[in-house]
Amino acid sequence: ITMLGIETSCDDTAAAVVRSNGEILSQVVSSQAELLAQYGGVAPKMAQEAHAAVIDQVVQDALDKAGVREKDLSAVAVTIGPGLSLCLHVGVQKARKIAGSFNLPLVGVHHMEAHALVARLVEKKLQFPFMALLISGGHNLVVLARDLGHYIQLGTTIDDAIGEAYDKTAKWLGLDLRRSGGPAIEELALEGDAKAIKFTVPMKQHKDCNFSFAGLKNQVRLAIEAQNVTPEIPISAANSKERSARANIAASFQRVAVLHLEEKCQRAIEWALKIDPSIKYLVASGGVASNKYVRSRLKQVVEKNGLQLVCPPPSLCTDNG
Ligand code: ATP
Ligand code: FE
Repeated sequence: ITMLGIETSCDDTAAAVVRSNGEILSQVVSSQAELLAQYGGVAPKMAQEAHAAVIDQVVQDALDKAGVREKDLSAVAVTIGPGLSLCLHVGVQKARKIAGSFNLPLVGVHHMEAHALVARLVEKKLQFPFMALLISGGHNLVVLARDLGHYIQLGTTIDDAIGEAYDKTAKWLGLDLRRSGGPAIEELALEGDAKAIKFTVPMKQHKDCNFSFAGLKNQVRLAIEAQNVTPEIPISAANSKERSARANIAASFQRVAVLHLEEKCQRAIEWALKIDPSIKYLVASGGVASNKYVRSRLKQVVEKNGLQLVCPPPSLCTDNG
């Protein structure tokens, strides 16, 4: 089976051609990072226009790189949600057009299910049931995947997702947003002292598996104000004292944000193993799971519980076809 996959739920226009044996024949992503940097966030109408401008080319490139023509496809898959409806529409329209013209089945895909299941392309040993921690720009979920289409949600965020906290922290620290905020924070944090600022770990008193990042975001904002960081001065122009102040904030934020993930992940594993003791894997996916610090900390928690961590490579953690 050879599938064309199309994804336009947020700010990336993506297409890929994938075979049912897990082989990825091609993967093309056109990012709106420049636009995002200019406007400081995703504006749905503008994002829709940007998708519409490149969708034909992105799909064509994916087919060309794979050396596959539409008539060779077995089906077309497309993200149908969750996401920005104006943006989703661009992908769905394109997928319907191809499926209609070539008489192919059209498969609607849940974006978060795709973030979780993409791990099965790279880790052939991965069998149901497994756990998935989905950490991205809009979601922060921990689920028990019992089978295809059969998921038990153990926890979610009560406000923001961790990726949103990374992105805002990056913006307030004056980091270069032509790529997304997460990688910029990850890099700057390497220079900083993670214990310099005492942020409190969210939701300590809640004995559940839910997450919250709005409070931490606010703590970061206050710390930035207290240290007189001016986001208008880009990090590249900051003097060394100013740079190290920003690096300390980045590192301290990252440490506490990930501590929160670790704590909730530990509890979620305990819960999940009570439901199904045969679980052997935890998949971490979504953009934030491409972060090396996040991965190494999660690996410790997961292995301490006798499970194995599966992380798709970064290009499959962030949005893709
Ligand atoms: P959702 O999947 O919830 O709809 P999304 O599709 O926008 O949201 P993804 O593309 O999966 O999210 O991930 C993007 C998010 O991942 C952004 O918030 C980005 O800052 C974050 N991210 C990407 N790389 C890293 C990294 N190395 N460290 C931390 N965060 C990262
Ligand atoms: Fe996503």
